[in-house]
Amino acid sequence: MLALYKHVSSSFLCRYSPSPGPLRRFVGILSSTMIQFPALFILLGLLLLANSAAVDRTSEEGEAAILDPNQECTPYNYATVTNQMNSFPQVWESASILSDDAAAFAKWSSISANIPTNIPQKTQPPPSSYSASDPDCWWTYGQCTTPKLADLPPDVAAASEPSTLGYGFDDGPNCSHNAFYDFLQGQNQKATFYFIGSNVADFPLEAQRALTDGHEICAHTWSHPYMTTFASEDMQMIKLVVGVTPTCWRPPYGDVDDRVRAIAHALGLQTIMWEYDTADASVDGKTITDQTVVDNYDSFIQKASSGAFNSTGAILLTHELNNFTMSEAVNFYPQLKNVFQHLVPVGVSLNKTQPYVESNYSLPTFEQYISGTLTGSRGSPNSTTALPSSTSTSLRPPSTSTANSAESSASKNSASSLVKTGYNQILLSASFAAICFHFFGTVDFLMI
Ligand SMILES: [Zn+2]
Repeated sequence: MLALYKHVSSSFLCRYSPSPGPLRRFVGILSSTMIQFPALFILLGLLLLANSAAVDRTSEEGEAAILDPNQECTPYNYATVTNQMNSFPQVWESASILSDDAAAFAKWSSISANIPTNIPQKTQPPPSSYSASDPDCWWTYGQCTTPKLADLPPDVAAASEPSTLGYGFDDGPNCSHNAFYDFLQGQNQKATFYFIGSNVADFPLEAQRALTDGHEICAHTWSHPYMTTFASEDMQMIKLVVGVTPTCWRPPYGDVDDRVRAIAHALGLQTIMWEYDTADASVDGKTITDQTVVDNYDSFIQKASSGAFNSTGAILLTHELNNFTMSEAVNFYPQLKNVFQHLVPVGVSLNKTQPYVESNYSLPTFEQYISGTLTGSRGSPNSTTALPSSTSTSLRPPSTSTANSAESSASKNSASSLVKTGYNQILLSASFAAICFHFFGTVDFLMI
Protein backbone atom coordinates (compact mmCIF):
# COMPACT_ATOMS: atom_id res chain seq x y z
CA MET A 1 0.00 0.00 0.00
CA LEU A 2 2.73 2.41 0.87
CA ALA A 3 4.54 1.60 -2.32
CA LEU A 4 1.43 2.69 -4.12
CA TYR A 5 1.70 6.12 -2.64
CA LYS A 6 5.32 6.48 -3.53
CA HIS A 7 5.03 5.14 -7.03
CA VAL A 8 3.85 7.21 -9.90
CA SER A 9 3.11 4.65 -12.53
CA SER A 10 2.45 7.01 -15.38
CA SER A 11 2.64 10.68 -15.92
CA PHE A 12 -0.35 12.89 -15.67
CA LEU A 13 0.57 14.48 -18.98
CA CYS A 14 0.64 11.14 -20.75
CA ARG A 15 -3.12 11.39 -21.03
CA TYR A 16 -2.58 14.07 -23.62
CA SER A 17 -0.14 12.19 -25.86
CA PRO A 18 -0.81 12.16 -29.64
CA SER A 19 -2.71 9.32 -31.27
CA PRO A 20 -0.68 6.30 -32.54
CA GLY A 21 -1.03 7.05 -36.27
CA PRO A 22 0.61 10.48 -36.42
CA LEU A 23 3.07 9.34 -33.77
CA ARG A 24 4.31 6.47 -35.93
CA ARG A 25 4.72 8.78 -38.91
CA PHE A 26 6.63 11.25 -36.76
CA VAL A 27 8.98 8.54 -35.47
CA GLY A 28 9.62 7.35 -39.04
CA ILE A 29 10.54 10.82 -40.25
CA LEU A 30 12.67 11.36 -37.18
CA SER A 31 14.62 8.13 -37.73
CA SER A 32 15.44 8.87 -41.35
CA THR A 33 16.47 12.43 -40.51
CA MET A 34 18.76 11.16 -37.76
CA ILE A 35 20.55 8.90 -40.23
CA GLN A 36 21.07 11.73 -42.70
CA PHE A 37 22.05 14.44 -40.26
CA PRO A 38 23.68 12.85 -37.19
CA ALA A 39 25.59 16.01 -36.25
CA LEU A 40 22.36 17.95 -36.02
CA PHE A 41 20.98 15.50 -33.49
CA ILE A 42 24.14 15.48 -31.43
CA LEU A 43 23.80 19.24 -31.21
CA LEU A 44 20.14 18.96 -30.26
CA GLY A 45 21.04 16.45 -27.58
CA LEU A 46 23.62 18.81 -26.13
CA LEU A 47 21.06 21.62 -26.11
CA LEU A 48 18.56 19.40 -24.30
CA LEU A 49 21.17 18.49 -21.73
CA ALA A 50 22.00 22.13 -21.17
CA ASN A 51 18.33 22.91 -20.81
CA SER A 52 17.71 20.18 -18.26
CA ALA A 53 20.74 21.31 -16.29
CA ALA A 54 19.16 24.76 -16.15
CA VAL A 55 16.03 23.49 -14.42
CA ASP A 56 15.77 25.01 -10.98
CA ARG A 57 14.97 22.37 -8.39
CA THR A 58 15.81 24.50 -5.39
CA SER A 59 12.77 26.75 -5.26
CA GLU A 60 9.02 26.39 -5.34
CA GLU A 61 8.86 28.54 -8.47
CA GLY A 62 11.49 26.47 -10.26
CA GLU A 63 9.87 23.17 -9.38
CA ALA A 64 6.42 24.43 -10.36
CA ALA A 65 7.74 25.34 -13.82
CA ILE A 66 8.73 21.76 -14.67
CA LEU A 67 6.31 20.26 -17.16
CA ASP A 68 7.84 16.82 -17.69
CA PRO A 69 6.28 14.56 -15.05
CA ASN A 70 9.26 12.21 -15.12
CA GLN A 71 11.52 15.09 -14.28
CA GLU A 72 9.08 16.29 -11.62
CA CYS A 73 9.24 12.91 -9.94
CA THR A 74 13.01 12.58 -10.01
CA PRO A 75 14.11 12.94 -6.37
CA TYR A 76 15.98 16.10 -5.45
CA ASN A 77 17.81 17.32 -2.42
CA TYR A 78 16.25 20.06 -0.35
CA ALA A 79 18.72 21.01 2.33
CA THR A 80 16.15 22.20 4.86
CA VAL A 81 14.57 18.77 4.85
CA THR A 82 17.76 16.78 4.55
CA ASN A 83 19.33 18.61 7.46
CA GLN A 84 16.39 17.93 9.75
CA MET A 85 15.28 14.46 8.84
CA ASN A 86 17.05 13.05 11.87
CA SER A 87 14.38 14.81 13.92
CA PHE A 88 11.66 12.91 12.11
CA PRO A 89 10.56 9.34 11.67
CA GLN A 90 11.65 7.57 8.52
CA VAL A 91 9.32 8.41 5.67
CA TRP A 92 6.47 5.94 5.31
CA GLU A 93 7.18 4.42 8.68
CA SER A 94 4.92 4.95 11.63
CA ALA A 95 6.01 8.04 13.42
CA SER A 96 7.02 8.01 17.03
CA ILE A 97 8.24 10.58 19.47
CA LEU A 98 11.96 10.81 19.57
CA SER A 99 13.38 10.16 23.00
CA ASP A 100 15.11 13.54 23.21
CA ASP A 101 12.09 15.56 22.17
CA ALA A 102 11.18 17.17 25.46
CA ALA A 103 8.66 19.51 23.86
CA ALA A 104 6.71 16.62 22.46
CA PHE A 105 6.64 14.81 25.76
CA ALA A 106 5.51 17.99 27.48
CA LYS A 107 2.75 18.41 24.94
CA TRP A 108 1.55 14.91 25.48
CA SER A 109 1.58 15.52 29.19
CA SER A 110 -0.58 18.58 28.77
CA ILE A 111 -3.32 16.81 26.85
CA SER A 112 -3.22 13.25 28.14
CA ALA A 113 -5.75 13.91 30.87
CA ASN A 114 -8.35 14.67 28.18
CA ILE A 115 -7.85 11.45 26.30
CA PRO A 116 -10.19 8.60 27.20
CA THR A 117 -8.57 5.41 28.37
CA ASN A 118 -11.69 3.26 28.12
CA ILE A 119 -11.89 3.29 24.33
CA PRO A 120 -9.84 0.37 23.06
CA GLN A 121 -7.59 0.45 20.06
CA LYS A 122 -9.14 -1.19 17.06
CA THR A 123 -8.33 -3.85 14.50
CA GLN A 124 -9.11 -3.82 10.80
CA PRO A 125 -11.62 -4.65 9.51
CA PRO A 126 -14.10 -4.05 12.35
CA PRO A 127 -14.50 -7.37 14.16
CA SER A 128 -17.88 -9.01 14.67
CA SER A 129 -17.35 -8.61 18.41
CA TYR A 130 -17.64 -4.82 18.17
CA SER A 131 -20.98 -3.69 19.58
CA ALA A 132 -23.67 -2.84 17.04
CA SER A 133 -24.48 0.21 19.15
CA ASP A 134 -21.16 1.67 18.00
CA PRO A 135 -20.19 3.02 21.43
CA ASP A 136 -16.99 4.66 20.14
CA CYS A 137 -18.52 6.42 17.14
CA TRP A 138 -16.15 4.46 14.92
CA TRP A 139 -16.53 5.76 11.37
CA THR A 140 -15.03 2.64 9.84
CA TYR A 141 -17.77 0.60 11.50
CA GLY A 142 -20.84 2.69 10.81
CA GLN A 143 -19.83 6.04 9.30
CA CYS A 144 -20.51 7.78 12.61
CA THR A 145 -19.55 11.46 12.57
CA THR A 146 -21.27 12.70 15.74
CA PRO A 147 -19.08 11.74 18.69
CA LYS A 148 -20.60 10.01 21.68
CA LEU A 149 -17.88 11.22 23.98
CA ALA A 150 -18.87 14.46 25.67
CA ASP A 151 -17.35 17.78 24.65
CA LEU A 152 -16.13 16.63 21.24
CA PRO A 153 -17.35 18.61 18.23
CA PRO A 154 -18.95 16.66 15.38
CA ASP A 155 -16.83 15.86 12.36
CA VAL A 156 -17.26 18.03 9.31
CA ALA A 157 -18.74 15.80 6.61
CA ALA A 158 -20.52 18.36 4.44
CA ALA A 159 -20.08 21.93 3.28
CA SER A 160 -22.43 24.01 5.36
CA GLU A 161 -23.18 26.56 2.64
CA PRO A 162 -26.00 25.62 0.25
CA SER A 163 -25.27 24.30 -3.24
CA THR A 164 -21.60 24.29 -2.38
CA LEU A 165 -18.98 21.62 -2.87
CA GLY A 166 -16.14 21.59 -0.35
CA TYR A 167 -13.52 20.85 -2.98
CA GLY A 168 -10.48 18.91 -1.87
CA PHE A 169 -7.97 16.14 -2.55
CA ASP A 170 -6.23 13.60 -0.33
CA ASP A 171 -2.79 11.97 -0.30
CA GLY A 172 -0.61 14.64 -1.87
CA PRO A 173 1.61 16.22 -2.65
CA ASN A 174 2.01 14.00 -5.68
CA CYS A 175 5.32 14.61 -7.41
CA SER A 176 3.74 14.89 -10.86
CA HIS A 177 1.02 17.31 -9.88
CA ASN A 178 2.14 20.39 -11.83
CA ALA A 179 -0.26 19.79 -14.71
CA PHE A 180 -3.14 19.38 -12.26
CA TYR A 181 -2.18 22.45 -10.24
CA ASP A 182 -1.70 24.40 -13.49
CA PHE A 183 -5.22 23.36 -14.45
CA LEU A 184 -6.65 24.60 -11.17
CA GLN A 185 -4.71 27.81 -11.54
CA GLY A 186 -6.11 28.28 -15.02
CA GLN A 187 -9.60 27.85 -13.63
CA ASN A 188 -9.01 30.29 -10.78
CA GLN A 189 -9.97 27.42 -8.53
CA LYS A 190 -8.73 26.90 -4.97
CA ALA A 191 -9.07 23.61 -3.14
CA THR A 192 -8.21 21.88 0.12
CA PHE A 193 -5.27 19.48 0.02
CA TYR A 194 -4.84 16.83 2.70
CA PHE A 195 -1.09 16.18 2.68
CA ILE A 196 0.73 13.08 3.90
CA GLY A 197 3.80 14.06 5.89
CA SER A 198 6.05 11.53 4.14
CA ASN A 199 5.07 12.97 0.76
CA VAL A 200 5.81 16.45 2.05
CA ALA A 201 9.26 15.30 3.17
CA ASP A 202 9.91 13.63 -0.19
CA PHE A 203 8.64 16.53 -2.31
CA PRO A 204 8.73 19.69 -0.19
CA LEU A 205 8.69 22.12 -3.10
CA GLU A 206 5.51 20.50 -4.40
CA ALA A 207 3.97 20.96 -0.97
CA GLN A 208 5.00 24.59 -0.93
CA ARG A 209 3.28 25.14 -4.25
CA ALA A 210 -0.10 24.42 -2.67
CA LEU A 211 0.31 27.33 -0.28
CA THR A 212 1.79 29.58 -2.94
CA ASP A 213 -1.17 28.86 -5.21
CA GLY A 214 -3.57 29.83 -2.44
CA HIS A 215 -4.92 26.40 -1.62
CA GLU A 216 -5.83 25.28 1.89
CA ILE A 217 -3.69 22.59 3.49
CA CYS A 218 -4.89 20.04 6.02
CA ALA A 219 -3.00 17.19 7.62
CA HIS A 220 -3.40 13.57 6.53
CA THR A 221 -0.88 11.88 8.86
CA TRP A 222 2.78 11.00 8.45
CA SER A 223 2.47 7.57 6.84
CA HIS A 224 -1.23 7.03 6.19
CA PRO A 225 -2.06 4.40 8.82
CA TYR A 226 -5.35 3.25 10.28
CA MET A 227 -5.38 5.63 13.21
CA THR A 228 -7.63 3.66 15.54
CA THR A 229 -5.29 0.68 15.48
CA PHE A 230 -2.60 2.47 17.42
CA ALA A 231 -2.43 2.01 21.14
CA SER A 232 -2.62 5.18 23.15
CA GLU A 233 0.98 4.68 24.19
CA ASP A 234 2.25 4.53 20.66
CA MET A 235 0.40 7.15 18.74
CA GLN A 236 2.33 9.29 16.41
CA MET A 237 2.23 12.59 14.68
CA ILE A 238 2.32 14.13 11.29
CA LYS A 239 4.34 17.06 10.14
CA LEU A 240 3.93 19.42 7.27
CA VAL A 241 6.54 21.27 5.35
CA VAL A 242 4.83 24.32 4.01
CA GLY A 243 5.25 27.04 6.58
CA VAL A 244 1.93 26.86 8.29
CA THR A 245 0.46 24.60 10.92
CA PRO A 246 -2.87 23.14 9.83
CA THR A 247 -5.81 23.10 12.21
CA CYS A 248 -7.70 20.52 10.19
CA TRP A 249 -6.99 16.89 9.43
CA ARG A 250 -8.56 13.96 7.66
CA PRO A 251 -8.04 10.43 8.98
CA PRO A 252 -6.70 8.02 6.36
CA TYR A 253 -9.44 5.62 5.26
CA GLY A 254 -11.77 7.69 7.46
CA ASP A 255 -10.60 5.56 10.35
CA VAL A 256 -11.47 7.62 13.40
CA ASP A 257 -13.21 6.95 16.69
CA ASP A 258 -13.80 9.04 19.79
CA ARG A 259 -10.36 8.29 21.22
CA VAL A 260 -8.60 9.49 18.10
CA ARG A 261 -11.00 12.45 17.87
CA ALA A 262 -10.14 13.39 21.44
CA ILE A 263 -6.46 13.45 20.56
CA ALA A 264 -7.05 15.50 17.45
CA HIS A 265 -9.27 17.91 19.31
CA ALA A 266 -6.74 18.35 22.09
CA LEU A 267 -4.16 19.17 19.44
CA GLY A 268 -6.41 21.77 17.88
CA LEU A 269 -7.25 19.72 14.79
CA GLN A 270 -10.74 19.76 13.28
CA THR A 271 -11.72 16.40 11.79
CA ILE A 272 -12.84 16.66 8.15
CA MET A 273 -14.70 13.67 6.70
CA TRP A 274 -16.94 13.23 3.67
CA GLU A 275 -20.31 11.79 2.76
CA TYR A 276 -19.60 10.88 -0.86
CA ASP A 277 -16.71 8.87 -2.25
CA THR A 278 -15.50 8.57 -5.85
CA ALA A 279 -13.37 5.52 -4.87
CA ASP A 280 -10.75 6.97 -7.22
CA ALA A 281 -7.90 5.76 -5.01
CA SER A 282 -9.33 2.26 -4.66
CA VAL A 283 -9.24 1.02 -8.24
CA ASP A 284 -8.06 -2.59 -8.25
CA GLY A 285 -9.30 -3.55 -11.71
CA LYS A 286 -11.61 -6.14 -10.18
CA THR A 287 -14.26 -4.96 -7.75
CA ILE A 288 -13.45 -1.31 -8.43
CA THR A 289 -12.57 -0.32 -11.97
CA ASP A 290 -12.01 2.97 -13.77
CA GLN A 291 -15.64 2.75 -14.82
CA THR A 292 -16.73 2.43 -11.17
CA VAL A 293 -15.09 5.76 -10.49
CA VAL A 294 -16.75 7.36 -13.50
CA ASP A 295 -20.09 5.95 -12.34
CA ASN A 296 -19.50 7.34 -8.84
CA TYR A 297 -18.77 10.79 -10.22
CA ASP A 298 -21.84 10.56 -12.47
CA SER A 299 -24.05 9.48 -9.61
CA PHE A 300 -22.82 12.30 -7.37
CA ILE A 301 -23.30 14.85 -10.15
CA GLN A 302 -26.80 13.50 -10.81
CA LYS A 303 -27.62 13.83 -7.13
CA ALA A 304 -26.39 17.40 -7.09
CA SER A 305 -28.35 18.28 -10.21
CA SER A 306 -31.50 16.90 -8.63
CA GLY A 307 -31.22 19.48 -5.86
CA ALA A 308 -29.98 17.22 -3.06
CA PHE A 309 -27.49 19.87 -1.90
CA ASN A 310 -29.65 22.94 -2.30
CA SER A 311 -29.85 23.58 1.43
CA THR A 312 -26.61 22.01 2.66
CA GLY A 313 -23.57 21.48 0.47
CA ALA A 314 -21.41 18.39 0.14
CA ILE A 315 -17.91 17.02 0.48
CA LEU A 316 -16.72 14.45 -2.05
CA LEU A 317 -13.69 12.22 -1.45
CA THR A 318 -11.17 12.56 -4.28
CA HIS A 319 -7.40 12.17 -4.43
CA GLU A 320 -4.22 13.79 -5.64
CA LEU A 321 -2.75 10.31 -5.80
CA ASN A 322 -1.80 9.50 -9.38
CA ASN A 323 -2.37 10.19 -13.04
CA PHE A 324 -5.81 8.61 -13.00
CA THR A 325 -7.22 10.39 -9.97
CA MET A 326 -5.97 13.78 -11.14
CA SER A 327 -7.14 13.22 -14.70
CA GLU A 328 -10.62 12.32 -13.49
CA ALA A 329 -10.66 15.45 -11.35
CA VAL A 330 -9.90 17.48 -14.47
CA ASN A 331 -12.43 15.57 -16.57
CA PHE A 332 -15.28 16.07 -14.14
CA TYR A 333 -14.45 19.61 -13.10
CA PRO A 334 -16.76 21.26 -15.68
CA GLN A 335 -19.72 19.13 -14.62
CA LEU A 336 -19.13 19.80 -10.94
CA LYS A 337 -18.92 23.52 -11.70
CA ASN A 338 -22.16 23.18 -13.56
CA VAL A 339 -24.23 21.43 -10.90
CA PHE A 340 -22.90 23.33 -7.87
CA GLN A 341 -23.20 27.06 -7.54
CA HIS A 342 -19.87 27.17 -5.72
CA LEU A 343 -16.74 25.03 -5.54
CA VAL A 344 -14.61 26.26 -2.65
CA PRO A 345 -11.96 24.96 -0.24
CA VAL A 346 -13.56 23.21 2.71
CA GLY A 347 -12.31 25.85 5.13
CA VAL A 348 -13.98 28.54 3.03
CA SER A 349 -17.23 26.59 2.99
CA LEU A 350 -17.07 26.63 6.78
CA ASN A 351 -16.22 30.33 6.93
CA LYS A 352 -13.06 29.35 8.75
CA THR A 353 -10.91 32.37 8.03
CA GLN A 354 -7.97 31.25 10.15
CA PRO A 355 -6.98 27.83 8.84
CA TYR A 356 -3.59 27.65 10.50
CA VAL A 357 -2.10 28.18 13.93
CA GLU A 358 -0.11 31.08 12.52
CA SER A 359 -2.34 34.13 12.50
CA ASN A 360 -0.49 35.74 9.62
CA TYR A 361 -2.29 33.68 7.03
CA SER A 362 -6.02 33.84 6.49
CA LEU A 363 -8.66 32.45 4.17
CA PRO A 364 -11.36 34.66 2.71
CA THR A 365 -14.88 34.31 4.05
CA PHE A 366 -17.32 32.36 1.94
CA GLU A 367 -18.94 35.60 0.76
CA GLN A 368 -15.58 37.08 -0.14
CA TYR A 369 -14.57 33.97 -2.04
CA ILE A 370 -17.70 33.75 -4.15
CA SER A 371 -17.38 37.48 -4.82
CA GLY A 372 -13.96 36.88 -6.37
CA THR A 373 -11.53 37.32 -3.48
CA LEU A 374 -9.96 33.88 -3.65
CA THR A 375 -7.16 34.26 -1.14
CA GLY A 376 -6.78 35.85 2.26
CA SER A 377 -3.89 37.70 3.79
CA ARG A 378 -0.30 36.59 4.21
CA GLY A 379 1.78 38.60 6.62
CA SER A 380 4.75 37.94 8.79
CA PRO A 381 5.24 34.24 9.40
CA ASN A 382 6.44 34.92 12.89
CA SER A 383 3.19 35.73 14.63
CA THR A 384 1.14 32.98 16.13
CA THR A 385 -2.26 32.79 17.68
CA ALA A 386 -3.23 30.88 20.76
CA LEU A 387 -5.12 27.69 20.16
CA PRO A 388 -8.61 27.15 21.54
CA SER A 389 -8.88 26.76 25.28
CA SER A 390 -8.98 23.00 24.94
CA THR A 391 -5.35 23.21 23.90
CA SER A 392 -3.52 25.30 26.37
CA THR A 393 -0.28 25.50 24.45
CA SER A 394 0.57 26.17 20.87
CA LEU A 395 1.14 23.24 18.57
CA ARG A 396 4.40 24.84 17.65
CA PRO A 397 7.23 23.46 19.73
CA PRO A 398 8.95 25.96 21.98
CA SER A 399 12.40 24.56 21.32
CA THR A 400 15.07 26.67 19.68
CA SER A 401 16.07 24.24 17.03
CA THR A 402 17.98 24.74 13.84
CA ALA A 403 14.69 25.18 12.09
CA ASN A 404 13.64 28.02 14.32
CA SER A 405 16.98 29.67 13.86
CA ALA A 406 16.66 29.39 10.13
CA GLU A 407 13.19 30.81 10.36
CA SER A 408 14.21 33.79 12.40
CA SER A 409 17.16 34.58 10.19
CA ALA A 410 15.06 34.70 7.08
CA SER A 411 13.24 37.78 5.96
CA LYS A 412 9.76 37.54 7.29
CA ASN A 413 7.61 40.09 5.65
CA SER A 414 6.61 38.58 2.37
CA ALA A 415 4.64 35.66 1.10
CA SER A 416 7.73 34.22 -0.53
CA SER A 417 9.67 34.24 2.70
CA LEU A 418 6.75 32.55 4.36
CA VAL A 419 6.89 29.78 1.82
CA LYS A 420 10.64 29.46 2.00
CA THR A 421 10.75 29.25 5.76
CA GLY A 422 7.55 27.32 5.88
CA TYR A 423 9.11 23.94 5.56
CA ASN A 424 10.86 24.42 8.85
CA GLN A 425 7.74 25.54 10.60
CA ILE A 426 5.67 22.69 9.33
CA LEU A 427 8.31 20.15 10.09
CA LEU A 428 8.48 21.39 13.62
CA SER A 429 4.78 21.68 14.07
CA ALA A 430 4.12 18.31 12.61
CA SER A 431 6.81 16.78 14.67
CA PHE A 432 5.27 18.18 17.76
CA ALA A 433 1.92 16.82 16.87
CA ALA A 434 3.47 13.55 15.92
CA ILE A 435 4.89 13.30 19.33
CA CYS A 436 1.51 13.53 20.90
CA PHE A 437 0.15 10.88 18.68
CA HIS A 438 3.04 8.68 19.39
CA PHE A 439 1.76 8.42 22.89
CA PHE A 440 -1.58 7.47 21.56
CA GLY A 441 -0.13 4.94 19.27
CA THR A 442 -0.14 7.21 16.28
CA VAL A 443 2.56 9.76 16.07
CA ASP A 444 1.47 9.70 12.51
CA PHE A 445 -1.32 12.02 13.44
CA LEU A 446 0.85 14.97 14.04
CA MET A 447 3.72 14.34 11.75
CA ILE A 448 1.76 16.14 9.11
ZN1 LIG B 1 -5.56 9.10 2.17
